[in-house]
This record gives sequence, C-alpha cells and structure tokens, in this order.
Amino acid sequence: MPEGSHRFQVGSINCTVLSDGYYSYPSSWLFPNADPADLSGALVSHHLPPDDVLSPYTCLLIETGRHIVLVDTGAGEYSSTSGAIQARLEMAGIRPKDVDTVILTHAHPDHIGGAIDLCGRPAFPNARYVLSELEWEFWTGARTDLSHLRVPDAAKESLQSMARRSLGVLRHQIEPIDRETEVVPGVAAIPAPGHTPGHLAVLIASEGHQLLNLGDAAVHPLHLEHPSWENGFDLDPGCALATRRQLMERAVAGNTHLMAFHFPFPSIGRVAAKNSGWLWTPGW
Ligand SMILES: [Zn+2]
Repeated sequence: MPEGSHRFQVGSINCTVLSDGYYSYPSSWLFPNADPADLSGALVSHHLPPDDVLSPYTCLLIETGRHIVLVDTGAGEYSSTSGAIQARLEMAGIRPKDVDTVILTHAHPDHIGGAIDLCGRPAFPNARYVLSELEWEFWTGARTDLSHLRVPDAAKESLQSMARRSLGVLRHQIEPIDRETEVVPGVAAIPAPGHTPGHLAVLIASEGHQLLNLGDAAVHPLHLEHPSWENGFDLDPGCALATRRQLMERAVAGNTHLMAFHFPFPSIGRVAAKNSGWLWTPGW
C-alpha cells in the first residue's frame, strides 16, 4: 500500500493527493501496441517487473477556502485493493457532507466507484457531480460501443455495468458540462477526449501557479517517454494520443505542474521535452 496522502499549495489553494489504493494490470493491457522486447526493457530500466504494472489510484482534494472539491473518487467497493478514499478524507479532516463539488474525469469504475457508498447511495450527499455531457450520454445511451478497447471482454463488461450503475445512483446530482468550464473559482474542467468520449482534465490556477490534473490522459510515465505507446483502455487511441500531446505541450509551455491519477504516488510532478516525448520528474 502506498503512502496515504500528501498536501501542497497551488498559490492560495490547498491541495491534497489522497491514495484510494491500487490495482495490478497486465502490462499488455496498458501498452498494447508496444514492441514486447522494448516494453520489457523499458519497465526493467525503471526497476519494474515486466509482466504486470502496479497502478496507484490517486484522488485530488482541493480546498479553496470557499469550496471543497474532490477530483475522482477511487474505486469504492469495485476492487478489494482500493476504496480507501473515505478514510483518507476523514484523516484530512473532511466529512462526506462537507464536499460540495465532485469532478469526475470520466466514468470508469476506478474513478467513479467511490462516489457510491456501501448502501448504494451517493457517497457525498451535498455535492454536485460535474461530468462531461458526452460521458453521460456515452454510458447511459442505448449503444455503448467498447469494441475498440484492447482488453478482455470481461473487463469491457465490467466497465459498462459499473458505469451504468454508478451514474444511475448519481443521476439527480449530476451537473453535465459541454465545454471548458470554471467549476469553482480557480478550478476549471477541460475536455480531454480519447480515453473516453467525455474525458476531462482539471486545471487548478492561483497566484501564477498551476496544476494540471491529467486524469487518465496518460496512465504511466512510459506513455510520456514513448508517445506512440497507446493504452488498451483508450476508446479512441488516435484522439487520446493527440490529447496527450496537447496537454504536454500546454504543461511545458506554462511550466505547469502535473498530476496523473495512475502515476506513482504522490502522482505529481513536471515534464520536460526529451527526444520525441517527455520525461517525467516526480515532485512539486
Ligand atoms: Zn483510471
């Protein structure tokens, strides 16, 4: 289990990354188009085992002084190695009823599962849940097509059933957005499609400082070092690669700190352009 939380400032805004847990994925799911020998070599050079990738789940608590915002909610009961977000919030002094805004970068179970409590009710009873309208329509519509995902059928079925169940529970509190939107002062949701149709990134800005939360626009630092390596969970890999490039160029140009939900905890760092990709340096 990684460490639980890490607190830092973005200008006058308090931010805390909170570990919900982790999950281990076959490396072939996360890097389906990488040459197997190149992938093994890259993982070993990062002192990682070649066959499976231990992937942290990291949520972001934002306290602006007027608003308490949670970006992504972890997997809740959907995985036995996650679901720690409520305990982490409690340790940070936050009760579920204190959270007034939840931003869901997308509706995959590792991001939305913790939005539901063990009784099947919204876990944050007073919150509005901000989600892309495209994401809502994709998962709740009649024809959710996951055929392009390069993961086993059982994983696709899980994604679909968990998204539908979670969004059904949350339907009265969902606030759909259809463009870049300032959710609360200093916190903007930015369309970042490809991983899912309505995937969002989140930009926190205060007093000249910025943090860009990538969500799942990249799920491992190797996706930045090797910008042609796709993620098997990306619904539209070409769009996902273009989005990732746009976000990286924005981060490099703005000297912006980054956060990524699945990067090694505490999941914050910076990038610098290197060769055809970007080198991840962890830390604030
Ligand atoms: Zn994810």
